[in-house]
Formats: sequence, structure tokens, C-alpha cells
Amino acid sequence: MRKSIVAIVGRPNVGKSTIFNRLVGERISIVEDTPGVTRDRIYAQAEWLTTTFNLIDTGGIELGDEPLLVQMREQAEVAIREADVIIFMVNGREGITAADEEVAKLLFKSNKPVVLGVNKIDNPNMRDEIYEFYSLGFGEPFPISGTHGLGLGDLLDQVVDYFPIKETEIVDEDTIHFSLIGRPNVGKSSLVNALLQQERVIVSEIAGTTRDAIDTPFTNNGRDYVIIDTAGMRKRGKIYESTEKYSILRALKAIERSDVVLTLIDAETGIIEQDKKIAGYAHEAGKAVVIVVNKWDTVESDEKAMKAFEDKVRVHFPFLDYAPIVFLSAKTKKRTHTLLPHVLEASENHTKRIETNVLNDVIMDALAMNPTPTMKGKRLKILYATQVSVKPPSFVVFVNDPELLHFSYERFLENRIREAFGFQGTPIKIFARRRQ
Ligand code: GDP
Ligand code: GDP
Repeated sequence: MRKSIVAIVGRPNVGKSTIFNRLVGERISIVEDTPGVTRDRIYAQAEWLTTTFNLIDTGGIELGDEPLLVQMREQAEVAIREADVIIFMVNGREGITAADEEVAKLLFKSNKPVVLGVNKIDNPNMRDEIYEFYSLGFGEPFPISGTHGLGLGDLLDQVVDYFPIKETEIVDEDTIHFSLIGRPNVGKSSLVNALLQQERVIVSEIAGTTRDAIDTPFTNNGRDYVIIDTAGMRKRGKIYESTEKYSILRALKAIERSDVVLTLIDAETGIIEQDKKIAGYAHEAGKAVVIVVNKWDTVESDEKAMKAFEDKVRVHFPFLDYAPIVFLSAKTKKRTHTLLPHVLEASENHTKRIETNVLNDVIMDALAMNPTPTMKGKRLKILYATQVSVKPPSFVVFVNDPELLHFSYERFLENRIREAFGFQGTPIKIFARRRQ
């Protein structure tokens, strides 16, 4: 089921990124602890009570030297287009400005639900300041303080109330949805075309087109796939749609709908920082991942070169150590036929279930081989483990004290599970739970 999207809009310095960081901060810092994952904070998951949603800080979409009003108009349009609910932020200490009114007009016309947050109301005495904001026409203004974290609960209650009621999406469980991500010019469009022109691929019907992507269903070797193609959508001409951040936003939505994400690297230009950032999103989303080294025709392609490039990929993407690497050329179509088998395998592993007794045999063997660590005289005890979900496969390990399960031992267990069951192409998750 697609998560709802909330966008924060407002002029510079009203406190958008402060609020954004408050709402997603904890999650982001967890993500940033993953080695190799760096990120731009304009889009992240946030939680309120039992609801998870995606949050966009439109203020992070920079538009070069455009004047303030143009920037704000563009940002409001992103919010209107992308979001289910918009948080319109104003500064309670400055009152309503012309720019606020301009944005209000656009939001008003959009008919999207808008929740008005009046920020910088740092203490209750200042609450009288909020009344003038009724005149913006969005009903009750919510007093908040980003720096002190006040008022956010009431604001979020209202936001979550506006979430559309989701009809359960009908997704054919046997169809493998996949997307291609990577920086501009790595060859995404070329690879989509190469795949769809491949001999043993039968394109079943013409694509469903959404605002963000073209979906093309096809079959190969008796399996049904849908390729989610965002690359072809990019040349629409609006300023924000040609920004890097906006293309990331679109890629993120494609990732969200995918079972398998192909992350492309350009063999000709090599690996750059942006590649890592983009790959980090696929990893964070818990999707199956295949790394594709494209333009291999431009490299002297003996075994040694391949091994050397592979080593480089492993160093730069340590968090994707489970992902297979496929070398190919979208242009000459060399080796493109080797790709779908990896997509299929990654997808099957992503949905694989391990029986509890079989899993526990492996865990017990692991314990015998490498006894659990002790901390301050207390030894970690592992009682049993069970798989609780798929996409990605997730395991709960019942222990005497979760604090005692350190990263290194968890990593050891993960490796044993991978050796025993072969989860090539998919991340797996391990959670510790207390059980006396
Ligand atoms: P943005 O440009 O809208 O993303 O605004 P920022 O989040 O960067 O905040 C702009 C400035 O306002 C920073 O100096 C923040 O520390 C400050 N600020 C943000 N929230 C509050 C608040 O609730 N109270 C006060 N007093 N200052 C705040
Ligand atoms: P996108 O921006 O990621 O969709 O990239 P495109 O598919 O538009 O490709 C960008 C450029 O790289 C085009 O000029 C392609 O012809 C070229 N290109 C794509 N794949 C290959 C390849 O395998 N080898 C070579 N030499 N060039 C390629």
C-alpha cells in the first residue's frame, strides 16, 4: 500500500527544515549510521502514532537564482502535485507577508487539504499571535515551536486525519515490479529499451502512464514483470522538474512501488558520490537490489578489469554487499540477457520464507560455532528465532536481553543465515526481542 505523502511549504526561514528534522530526525540519524549512506534531507519517512508517511521539505528544492516568489510558487506546485496533505508554515513572529499570501492563493485553488502551522510560538503567552492567521483561509492555525518541539502532536493529528482512505491496491503478487535508478546519463532509458526489445521478452500491452512513470508489463520465460520507467518522463520543462532533487523524488516514488531496484553505474565515468546517495535510497527502502554496471563496452573488458571494477563497487557500496553485480552494455546489448535472471532471483529471495525449525537448526549451529558474547559478566542467550515477514525477509531473535546483541554478533548471525539460505539480492533484517 502506498504511503501518504505530506509536503511542508512556506517561505525561507519560517522553520521548515527545523520541523522536518524533528519529525524525521531519529530515523535519519539511524540511516546515517549505515556506512556509506549519505543523504540529502528533502524526503524521508516519518511516523506519528501508528502511521508511517513520507515527508517532503519543499524548501530543499533549490532553483538557482530564481526570485523568491518564483521559487515559492514552484515549491507550492511540487507540494500540490505530490502531496496528499500540505503543511503550510508561517512565522508567528512576523505576521502575514505578501509571499505567504501568494502561496496561500495557490494552495487554496488546489483543493488539497492544508494544515496551517504557525511556527516560533515558543511559549504559551504568545498564542494570541496566531489569530491573524485565520485570515489565510485554512481554518484553525496550529501554534507550534520547531526548536522546542511544541504543538506538533495536534498538528500531526490533523494531518493524519486528512489522509485519504486507502482502497487496498490490487497488486498481482506473482508479478515482479522493478525500476531503474541512477544519475542522469547512466543509461536508464537505453537499458529499458534494450530489455524491452530483447528477443525473449514479450511486451504484453502498452504501458500504464502515471504522473511519474511509465509502467510496461512484459513476460519472460513464463514470468510476469512490470518495468517502472521514470527516465522517459523527465523532459517536461518546468524548472523544478529539471532539478536533481526533483528527479530523486520521482525515483523514490518508483522505488516505493518496486520489488527489485536496479541501481545503475556508468563504467565509463566511474563511481561518484551521487551514485552512492541514490543507491542508499534503494537500500533504505528494504527493496531487493541488483547493481548494474552499464557502458561496459567502453572499458577493456577482460576478466581482470571486471574483477577490479567489482572490487571498487564493493568498497563504495558496502551497504549493498548482498546485491549481485551485472556488467553489460545497453548500447551494444551485450550481456543484457543476463540481467532478468538476477532480477528474478533477487525477487524470489525477497519473498522467501524459512520454516522456523529449519531456521533454528541453523541458529543453534551458529551458536555452537561461535559462542554468544558476554558484557559486564552477562552472557547473551538466544532462545529461538523466527521469520516474521517478507519483502524484505525479517527475523525476530528472542534473547534474554536485547542490549547484549551487538552489531558484530548480529552480523555474524546474518552471515550464517545468508550462507544457509542464500538471500542473494535482498537485504534481511534481524530484530532482537526480550524473552525470559
Ligand atoms: P526554513 O528556511 O523554513 O527551512 O527554516 P529553518 O528551519 O532553517 O529555520 C530558520 C531559522 O528559524 C533558524 O535559525 C531556526 O533555528 C529558527 N527556528 C526554527 N523554528 C523555530 C522556533 O520554533 N522558534 C524559534 N524561536 N526559532 C525557530
Ligand atoms: P539516462 O539519462 O540514464 O536515461 O541515460 P540514457 O539512456 O539517455 O543514456 C545516456 C547516454 O549514454 C546516451 O547518449 C546513450 O546513448 C549512452 N549510453 C547508454 N548506454 C550505453 C552503453 O551501454 N554504452 C555506451 N557506450 N553508451 C551508452
